[in-house]
Amino acid sequence: MTTEDPDITAFITTALDFLAGIARPATGGSWSAPEIPALAPGGYPRWRVDIVMGELQSPQGIADCLVSHADAEHIAAWDPPRVFEHINAMRRVLARHVPYDDYTFGPRCRVCASGDAYSNGVAVMEPWPCPTVRELAAPYAGAPGFKAEWRIEP
Ligand SMILES: [Zn+2]
Repeated sequence: MTTEDPDITAFITTALDFLAGIARPATGGSWSAPEIPALAPGGYPRWRVDIVMGELQSPQGIADCLVSHADAEHIAAWDPPRVFEHINAMRRVLARHVPYDDYTFGPRCRVCASGDAYSNGVAVMEPWPCPTVRELAAPYAGAPGFKAEWRIEP
C-alpha cells in the first residue's frame, strides 16, 4: 500500500455517501414516537412514529406501525438531522486521519501514535490504516469492498 492508496478512505466515504443519500430525501424535523393507547391484536401497544411537521403518511393513511416502544424510540431517534450529525462527525474524523509515508516503516497515520518511540524520542505512528479509521469502516464490514485486513480484532 502507498500513501496514494485511499482504499479505506474511499470505502468509508462511499458508505457515508450511501447513508446520506437515504437520509437526504427523508422528511426532516424532529421525529417523536407517541404511544397510541389502544392495544393492537395480540396485546401489543401500538406506536406511531410522527414528525413535528405532520404525520408520516402511507397510501392507507397515517402510517401506524405495530412496533415495540423500543423500535419506535429507535426510529424517532434516528431522524435525518441526527443521521447527518453522525455522518458529518465521521467525515471530520476521517479527514483528520490521513496517511504519510514513513520511509522506514511504511504508511503511517499522521494523527495516531502507537505508544512506541524511536531512539531519538520521536513517537512512532500507527500503521495505516490506523485503528481509528478501521473502526470507522467496521460498521460496513459486510459491504462489498471491505478488506479483511481492516477488521479490528476484539
Ligand atoms: Zn489515525
